[in-house]
Amino acid sequence: MPAARAHDILPEVRGLTGTTLDSRQIAELERLCAPGSVLSTPPALLAYECDALEHLRASPAAVVLPSSAAEVQAVVRFCHREGLPFVARGHGTGLSGGALPVPGGVVIGLSRLNRVLDIDIPNRRVTVEPGVTNLSISKHVAPYGYYYAPDPSSQQVCSIGGNIAENSGGAHCLKYGFTVHHVLALELVLPDGELVTIGDRRLDAPGPDLLGLVVGSEGTLGIATKAVVRIVRKPEAVQTFLAAFDTIEAGGQAVSEIIAAGIVPGAIEMMDALAIEAAEAAVHPNFPKANTVLIVELDGPAPEVRALSDVVLGIFRSLGASAVEVAEHEAQRARIWKGRKAAFAAMGRISPNYYVQDGVVPRTKLPHVLGRIRDLEVRSGLRIGNVFHAGDGNLHPLICYDERIPGQSQRAAEVAAEILGYCVEAGGSITGEHGVGCDKRDSMPKMFSAIDLAVMRDVRRALDPTDICNPGKVLPTPRLCGEVPGPYKQHPVEAAGLAERF
Ligand SMILES: Cc1cc2nc3c(=O)[nH]c(=O)nc-3n(C[C@H](O)[C@H](O)[C@H](O)COP(=O)(O)OP(=O)(O)OC[C@H]3O[C@@H](n4cnc5c(N)ncnc54)[C@H](O)[C@@H]3O)c2cc1C
Repeated sequence: MPAARAHDILPEVRGLTGTTLDSRQIAELERLCAPGSVLSTPPALLAYECDALEHLRASPAAVVLPSSAAEVQAVVRFCHREGLPFVARGHGTGLSGGALPVPGGVVIGLSRLNRVLDIDIPNRRVTVEPGVTNLSISKHVAPYGYYYAPDPSSQQVCSIGGNIAENSGGAHCLKYGFTVHHVLALELVLPDGELVTIGDRRLDAPGPDLLGLVVGSEGTLGIATKAVVRIVRKPEAVQTFLAAFDTIEAGGQAVSEIIAAGIVPGAIEMMDALAIEAAEAAVHPNFPKANTVLIVELDGPAPEVRALSDVVLGIFRSLGASAVEVAEHEAQRARIWKGRKAAFAAMGRISPNYYVQDGVVPRTKLPHVLGRIRDLEVRSGLRIGNVFHAGDGNLHPLICYDERIPGQSQRAAEVAAEILGYCVEAGGSITGEHGVGCDKRDSMPKMFSAIDLAVMRDVRRALDPTDICNPGKVLPTPRLCGEVPGPYKQHPVEAAGLAERF
């Protein structure tokens, strides 16, 4: 999609467009952090203009890379005093524009807060700074027979701070839960620079669940500077299967029958023909040529896994699977997962551009919604690959387009939005795990009433009354009385200077 500048997308920050910090402000930021922590030249800022949703871009006035919670606190206090908007950034793999800078504001990059502070095996918890990558937690505790369960496909690079902000999920969240189920406590710098600890090292801390409020708040309520996370014991046995089906309906039926049999697999993932083609071109996982493949992973005590394996294989057989692969060793299992986890990036092999959508439908509605997406593919003329966490109904349609063809990028955005409409109509959600960010904030009214949104805005204002902490994300811009939903259009009263947006 052609790059859209943030001032086109975030009308409420138009006033800041093109603003640069003056030399006093830059000097003060440099004084607050270790030498070499402030970037403010255009080439240095370039890498921070977007996250993985590359078509939304904006240049901040400065990027600050603090090395400690105290430095984060000092920078946030400075922004608060100067009225400067700031955006926390982990490792920039977000897919909804959550780390998109505010033009003229400050980006606070957490990549230098990357220490594992404490490994407490008897109590099954690890304390980390936010810039630690998801996978490195598992690597640190692997020698003790433990791992960190939420496993986004980006786990080799994404930060735990970003995971907490997005309440990230992954293939194994069907059985083990999302990030929110694995965070015990957080140290947080509030938008005015105050440092607080929420949650507790113990389970079931007394008082309101502030941790539940902050996890998934997409960097709008403060900046996490430390996290205590739960680790889980590696299962005694793991068995991975790959099954190929001629139709997506048969694959969907297999998912339903596995769950109906009372089995909760570690993961159930599905990929359609286009996603299989892309994965094959990129990482050669040697998947069978099929309309649909299903990856099912069982884990737990060895006798249980053996018994359930027979049930799963029976279901595949009864539904006429055209091929079934049973991973015999770790290398085979890793190859299967590589094909699945590379699926997003692999689309780049078969299409010049693609848009990763993220929506949820009740599992039972999967065949219906996938059918609608197929019809839309034919109508729109854009190829759509489908990769999804089938067990929890989390769809990731991959909409292929070519930005060099006039109108196609706009068409792709429309197709992506239409799919979200299908998800909501089916009783689902506009996001499963990638967050709302900037990308989907205007779709929030599809799911929430004006009163719901007002309550969310009030919660946010309670912590950030001056709206400097990742402004313009998650919530749609409030409209003037009498304005209609849809893309923002200036109200005549506003144009006449008689009222202003707030
Ligand atoms: C190829 C690919 C595959 C992916 N697969 C998955 C998947 O399977 N499941 C999934 O859930 N996601 C997936 N994602 C999305 C992405 O990796 C996650 O959203 C991840 O959690 C983002 O982490 P990050 O460090 O890159 O955060 P960023 O992109 O830097 O930031 C994301 C959000 O977090 C906020 N933030 C970052 N750090 C902090 C902090 N310390 N305190 C407060 N707020 C903070 C930012 O302001 C922003 O709103 C995938 C992305 C890619 C590119």
